[in-house]
Parts: sequence; structure tokens; C-alpha cells
Amino acid sequence: MVNFEPGNFSRLFYIDDMKNITLYLIALLMLSTFGCKRNAEDVARITSADTIVVTDTLLQQKLRNEHMVLATLYHQRAAEYRALCYQAFNIGKLMLDKDLADAEIEKHRIVVLDVDETVLDNSPFQAKSILESTSYPTYWIEWCELATAAPLPGAIDFLNYARKNGVSVFYVTNRNEALKEVTIKNLKEAGFPHADEEHVIMRTAEASKEGRRQVLLKKYHISLFFGDNLNDFAETFEGKSSSNRFQAVDDNKENFGKRFIVLPNAMYGDWEMALYGYNGGQPDSVLFDIRRKNLKSF
Ligand SMILES: [Mg+2]
Repeated sequence: MVNFEPGNFSRLFYIDDMKNITLYLIALLMLSTFGCKRNAEDVARITSADTIVVTDTLLQQKLRNEHMVLATLYHQRAAEYRALCYQAFNIGKLMLDKDLADAEIEKHRIVVLDVDETVLDNSPFQAKSILESTSYPTYWIEWCELATAAPLPGAIDFLNYARKNGVSVFYVTNRNEALKEVTIKNLKEAGFPHADEEHVIMRTAEASKEGRRQVLLKKYHISLFFGDNLNDFAETFEGKSSSNRFQAVDDNKENFGKRFIVLPNAMYGDWEMALYGYNGGQPDSVLFDIRRKNLKSF
């Protein structure tokens, strides 16, 4: 079995058993990566029984974001991901109907949605990061300025249904204020209702959305929240360790599929940052080890 470590390459390959098999696999990878025939020793050398150091800079760069490939493909190529998006907005419609039937609600109804990976698909940005061996925020502004992020399946139909029923839509995002105009443009051109200055609320000084939620709550009845990150729903989920996030979800289990509608995001999020102790700036080799240590095996 061969494993890759992207990043700063102290131990890019591990081998469990036969060196010859590993070298053969490296040679195969090299052929597919570079499209030309070279000796395995040109790109990697064995330094101990279970460690191979990759010496080729191009190969190092290409492997840097390898861990993001499958998650990004899941968003772009798995019909199951598409089905999950429809499922989320279909549940949203059922719950909104229930809320609309409640005659005791007096305040104006609204639904509150996050933007990225909740109504807009930024997987092309992730793909660019993988292919160019870069990471956020490189290319993020360029991507947002294109204003071409596709709507998530089911989102527009649901939100138009809400608007038709007199429910206003607020988009609460942690994109920077400087991206407001292009975000509105993207939402509007994709066909989202209420994509305007008033209803698109950008990141304030703090990343927490709690303050922005409270402002809306004073004036409106929030029928539903939609998000791909637990922080899109309530303050209680913020800044917690992975196990405490589990506990917070268990404590709020009645809300999911009722007031909180979750969209899947396997590409990034606080679920990943929690693994890193909210320090994603550590060397790639450290993050590599953290990811492996968090796997549950048998
Ligand atoms: Mg999001």
C-alpha cells in the first residue's frame, strides 16, 4: 500500500511492504503524471524501510492537494450529491408549508440561507486549487468576480416557491463586503429571488453569523435556516472540537430537517478546521498526519 503526503515532503511516500512494488507504483504514477518515461529514482529515493522521499518538485506540487480530489469529484460527478441537494430543498418546502399553516405567527416570514455550497456551487474553485496546487485565498476573488457559480439543484425552485408564498429570502454569507456586488450579480443572473442590496448580507468584522441572525430575528420570523456548515445555524456549534461538535449536533437533533436544513459539503468547512484545531496554516506534512490520525480504523 502506498500513501501520498502532499506539501513539504519529508515523507511523501510510505511503504508497508515491498520496496520493489512501491517503486513500480511510483514509476506508474510518474508515467501518468508526466506522460514520459523516467526512472523511479529520478523522482523519489528510499531513505529507510518505510520512507521514500520524493525529490521531484513537479510531482510534489501535483500531490499537494491530492486529498481534495475525491471530495471535489463527489460534488461534481456524484448523482448522489445532486439527489441530496434536491432532498434538502424538498424537505425545506414541506417544512415551509407547515410553517405557513401556523396562524399564530404574526411577524413577516423569512428564510435565511448561507451562500457558498448552500445555494451556489464553488466546486470549480476547488478544482482550480487542486489542478494549480494552490489553496484559498488564491484565485478566490478571481472566481467570485466571474459571478458564474451555478445554483445548487433545487435551490431556485424552492426560493421562488417561498417568495410566491410571501416569504422573503435573506442570504447571510461570510464572503467579504468587497464581494457584495459580484455576489448579488451571480445570484441575480442565476435566477435567485431577492438578490439585492438589502437581502444579501456579507461578513461583518466577525466571522460569527450570530449577530446578523439576531438583527433579523428582531424584525422577522425565521421559518428555516439553510447551510452547509453548522455555524450557519446557531452559535452553539462555533469553534468546537470535533467531538464537541458531535455533542452539539446530538443536543440539537430535533432541529435538523425541521428548522435547520443541511446541505452536504465534503470539500471544506469547519468539520475539517476542527480536525486541525482551527489552524489550517500548519505545514502540509502536519495536516497530512492529522488527517490520518483522525481516521477510525480497526
Ligand atoms: Mg457555506
